Amino acid sequence: MAETIDIAIVGGGPAGLTAAIYGARARAKTVVFETGIPGGQISSASWVENFPGFPDGISGQELGDLMHRQAENAGAEFRIISPVEAIRTNGCDFVITVGGEEFDARTVILATGAIPKKLGIPGESEFAGRGVSWCATCDGPLYRDKVVAVIGGGDSATQEAVYLAKIAKNVHVIHRRDELRATQCLQEQCLFHPQITMHLSQVAAEIVGEGGRVTGVRLRSKVDDSEEMLPVDGLFEFIGIDAQSGLVADLCDLDDQGFVKVDRNGLTSCVGLYAAGDVANCELKQVVTACALGASAVFHAARYLDTRVCNV
Ligand code: NAP
Repeated sequence: MAETIDIAIVGGGPAGLTAAIYGARARAKTVVFETGIPGGQISSASWVENFPGFPDGISGQELGDLMHRQAENAGAEFRIISPVEAIRTNGCDFVITVGGEEFDARTVILATGAIPKKLGIPGESEFAGRGVSWCATCDGPLYRDKVVAVIGGGDSATQEAVYLAKIAKNVHVIHRRDELRATQCLQEQCLFHPQITMHLSQVAAEIVGEGGRVTGVRLRSKVDDSEEMLPVDGLFEFIGIDAQSGLVADLCDLDDQGFVKVDRNGLTSCVGLYAAGDVANCELKQVVTACALGASAVFHAARYLDTRVCNV
């Protein structure tokens, strides 16, 4: 087995990258395991307006890239290889399996984040990548002067609807309730936007298409069950997130939605295992809170390393 890692960070989004900056600066051997380009979910956010220090906002991709570079400059190592397959305990330590190779780690910070939920309606899987998308930054430019629908009423749906309205001719926001859940200023940007039409108390019942491309979405009213076909060229789903906590499901406690239960220091119910960012059961899921949780978790992981007595 290779050299023991002091702090293994699984996931390279804002929580993992901040943990990496702090871990490396504490002169702990800090390794980030990540499968794609570091940055995590934030890399697919079109524009981030509420991360302090960027008064005009910053693209999610650029913010993720800056955090990655900062972690590397601090001395964190990156293993951008295949996904982590398993994490198990080994006495006081942990063994991380990646691509058949095993890494010994004294502490682990799980920062695997969350992935977008899917609607599970007819047409969704058939047209995934051919008109149905979960990333406005990636796929929005394909809809210049076209008509798109956005499903959801939270921060992601409203923010991405405003972004899409810069590209598309019209954006239809479809939300299942009669009021939005999003932060007030995001709601206002959406509600008063001349190219955005709100469809409240409506659910998307089916995505339809022709010639392998989306042509419309069938809407059903939650008020009277009436249906209408809304012609659209593309459909973006922003209906919430699922925690990526499967790797530690047998090691520590999860809440009833699958988020990892942590204490105020980011410690899970397993000694030496911490969780930070969207995968943890913290209510406010923002880039700034993910960063703060990453910093706190790694601070306590480093303190634990300095003081632990391992008799196993
Ligand atoms: P979210 O806040 O959970 O909102 C999900 C939306 O989708 C809700 O409006 C929900 O409706 C709707 N929905 C859920 N399941 C549905 C279904 N099966 N069919 C139709 N609609 C459905 O998720 P999010 O917007 O992705 O945000 C996730 C977290 O990231 C939140 O904590 C959010 O604040 C944060 N975030 C922050 C920013 C920012 O600060 N700029 C940007 C993006 C995300 P109901 O309202 O009826 O439940």
